[in-house]
Amino acid sequence: MQPFTYQSVSSTDAATQAAAGGAEASYLAGGTTLLDLMKLEVMQPRRVVDVNALGRTTHGRIEADQKGLRLGALVRMADAAEHPQIAQQYPVIAQSLQLAASPQLRNMASLGGNVLQRTRCTYFRDVTYAACNKRNPGSGCAAREGVNRMHAVLGTSAHCIATYAGDFGHALIALDATVDLVGPEGARTIAFAELHRQPGDRPNRETTLRPGELIVSFTVPAAPWTRRSLYLKVRDRQSYEFALASAAVAIDLHDGIVREARIALGGVSTVPWRAHEAERVLRSKPLDDANLAAAADAAFTDAKVYGRNDFKVELGKRTLIRAAQQAAALEI
Ligand code: SF4
Repeated sequence: MQPFTYQSVSSTDAATQAAAGGAEASYLAGGTTLLDLMKLEVMQPRRVVDVNALGRTTHGRIEADQKGLRLGALVRMADAAEHPQIAQQYPVIAQSLQLAASPQLRNMASLGGNVLQRTRCTYFRDVTYAACNKRNPGSGCAAREGVNRMHAVLGTSAHCIATYAGDFGHALIALDATVDLVGPEGARTIAFAELHRQPGDRPNRETTLRPGELIVSFTVPAAPWTRRSLYLKVRDRQSYEFALASAAVAIDLHDGIVREARIALGGVSTVPWRAHEAERVLRSKPLDDANLAAAADAAFTDAKVYGRNDFKVELGKRTLIRAAQQAAALEI
């Protein structure tokens, strides 16, 4: 591990000042991604700014009212997953957290860190592989011709096909969440859908965060579809495993007709992935087999496969369909 300085801060001003200057500094919350990647020498910050003391403030609170849900970025995954109001009013959020990682990791990992977790691409995490554009820009992509069973089929580029590893992010994007940020230049709020960048020709730039910016909280607006929602995750084993395919689905259903649908797809995409085309297919229609099949086809129209991950297109479609069917069957 490379040498680094460590500083614990107790205010957002102190945090953003300590991290000003950007690339050489990293914020530390739960540490479940950062410390792993520092030990592997994939990430080598010169300064680590510990923000956990901010958890005693608004950064660590869960607040729910008739307007929606506010989740502080330093809330631990387990606390949000087990929160009764979230489980009842926003089940897709509770389930996306409950089905992620292990109990120990959920107790440590923060929501802010969760959405910023780095890919699990083996070639990214093992520095003995030279070709990884995300870790070492311009070096190539070993995964395109390599072992890519876990890799993405949506949002890929010639430069990177790494899968976004999270689950919670798909629930947030499905529910039109926003993100409150604070940084050296002040505070701002962006749509969660604008937080992550697709790899394009610069896969090392994963987010739209400005240097030194810190996530303060996420806001999820209340809506008629949040209660009829769920997260379905298909994986090689039933715990402590990343998704082969997943779907975050929220539906406003009236007399069997879809008034609104919100759908996001995980395990198959390079960023949290909203399936707008599938939503359009379903809107104002019965939620029957034919319409669901058409929606699933629409969601994967632009999919690209790379050999060992070809199965993900069919698996992704079936996951979307099953998630929507299960959401429709919920008694609420
Ligand atoms: Fe690196 Fe992306 Fe290629 Fe993986 S898929 S080797 S992260 S460039």
